[in-house]
Amino acid sequence: MVGKTKYQTKADVKRLSGVGQMGCLPCMIDGWNDVQATVQHITEGSVRLEDEHQMTYPSCPWHHQGKVPDKFRGAVRLATRRVGPSFARNKRDFAKRYGAERELVHITDALLRVIDSEWRRGCYLGPAALGKVAVELHREIVLGLKVRRG
Ligand SMILES: [Zn+2]
Repeated sequence: MVGKTKYQTKADVKRLSGVGQMGCLPCMIDGWNDVQATVQHITEGSVRLEDEHQMTYPSCPWHHQGKVPDKFRGAVRLATRRVGPSFARNKRDFAKRYGAERELVHITDALLRVIDSEWRRGCYLGPAALGKVAVELHREIVLGLKVRRG
């Protein structure tokens, strides 16, 4: 976290609660669903953005802060090889693999819309289904490949 947290509007509270219930987005892109995450506020030049609570996406402690998962016993290179680059440790590799943070925010926006519309239809989107949508959105938004939806 950088700096002070701003006052939250009603829309912010909704956003933070929605993002807080999702698994780590970079992990989902790699096919690992439901990995425990916290809400990350994106920053530019280490400053939070104007609309800070909306500019958020879910990320696990490794992918965001570079905290090496216990099972790797502090081996950063091994962790990077197994679970992908961490934003805190290598921003360029992270962006190359998962997208710029703003793109991750766009993916999160779209995921929340999908969850919302499914919920309206009385459906619950489980972690596996959500992960599949995240992979499609990553291909579409970050890699620029059109994905046909069935
Ligand atoms: Zn992760």
